[in-house]
Amino acid sequence: MIKRMKGTYDITSDIRYYQAIEKQIQKVSRLFNYQEIRTPHFEQQALFHRSVGQDTDIVSKETYDFKDRGGRMNTLRPEGTAGVVRAFIENKLYAEPKLPQKYYYLGNMFRYERPQKGRFREFYQFGAEAFGSNHPAIDAEIIAYAVTLLRGLKLKNVTVHLNTLGDKASKAAFEDALKNHFKDDIEHMCQDCQTRYQENPLRILDCKVDQDKAIMQSAPKTIDYLTKTDQKHFTLVQDYLKAMNIDVIVDHNLVRGLDYYTHTVFEIKVSKDLLGSQNAICGGGRYNHLVETLGGPEVPAVGFAFGIERLVMALKENDYPLVEDAIHLYLLILDDTARLKAVEIAQKLRLGGIITELDYMEKSFKAQFKQSAHHNARFVGILGENEVKENQINVKDQQSEVEETIALDDLYIELAQKLTKQRDDCKDCDKGESS
Ligand code: AMP
Repeated sequence: MIKRMKGTYDITSDIRYYQAIEKQIQKVSRLFNYQEIRTPHFEQQALFHRSVGQDTDIVSKETYDFKDRGGRMNTLRPEGTAGVVRAFIENKLYAEPKLPQKYYYLGNMFRYERPQKGRFREFYQFGAEAFGSNHPAIDAEIIAYAVTLLRGLKLKNVTVHLNTLGDKASKAAFEDALKNHFKDDIEHMCQDCQTRYQENPLRILDCKVDQDKAIMQSAPKTIDYLTKTDQKHFTLVQDYLKAMNIDVIVDHNLVRGLDYYTHTVFEIKVSKDLLGSQNAICGGGRYNHLVETLGGPEVPAVGFAFGIERLVMALKENDYPLVEDAIHLYLLILDDTARLKAVEIAQKLRLGGIITELDYMEKSFKAQFKQSAHHNARFVGILGENEVKENQINVKDQQSEVEETIALDDLYIELAQKLTKQRDDCKDCDKGESS
């Protein structure tokens, strides 16, 4: 038997968690006025390799690269930002009158990494990018957008970790300080750190191998190397977050993996009890020079990306209240005359918004009844030769257990009324997926 590839997975019964998350994403994106953008799953290899520098977690060793039949080098997208930025430039979206331009995406990403709990080779990300403003209020908005999604999903034990890297001058001063700090010890640190020392010293702070070493604990902090303007930007981000009642933990060791970040960087984590070590569910920040680096005009931007699998895992641990999969009516069919009628009725009801299922297995009455229970049918309708002749149907309400005979001409209106009444009576309508 052919099995799925390592690091990939099938979504079967968990699909309802994905759908609940997607529904919430659409709702919150609408509230914050971000518009969906869809970009290709593969891009020219140069997009990722040029955009993110050499020593980051998402280039070369972790991307899926392949040559197509035309000899072009392609890469399966390992993240969403680079593709969105490419589309922003290629489609001249920067010339659109609406400012800032706010986009969100949802789609599969591919990284050739070692699979473990919460880490896959193909996974889903929901991300957002706001282009055109360098104002700290939009850094705060993007964090509020992410947090509002989590609140909508009723996820508890969530913390927002915030830091700033400052812009070019602050980052350069900080990198110099880091190089100076590590220069005598770097040869005793891991191989990755030695490469990072040369290419992107900031990333030494992300190292999991050497993180407990004293030299790491005493490393310089970004906050001490900020220019006055960058310091003000960071203070304002925090003020705006406070105004929105969003609590954050300022963590000066947070630098994020990619070297394109400037100013604000943040990560959202759920407690380790829920997800273990892969407990970061969202990461983001400002990237004021990426558009230019990729050949566009000078356009500041800020964004984030969520890992959907980790969100699903967290929701399951939180006992997220999924709405039961249920149908409105199951039609039990007693003979072939009834089948023709059932097909006709089902189509009419479905067009009117009533979720209808019918027997296709030619099973016994009892077996069909069992099927109606598997489908969680609210109503069961029984159709035989007699019912067709009399132009009526026997309907049982599985909730109240009331059985009645309804004229087929009145079936739609009768069911619609009963279902509307149920909706009006619903006390828990703002729970779970329905919110
Ligand atoms: P990144 O693009 O690396 O900043 O990741 C953003 C978010 O995507 C992380 O916080 C994770 O939730 C998720 N993520 C990143 N890599 C993976 C992966 N290999 N498998 C599943 N989720 C991932």
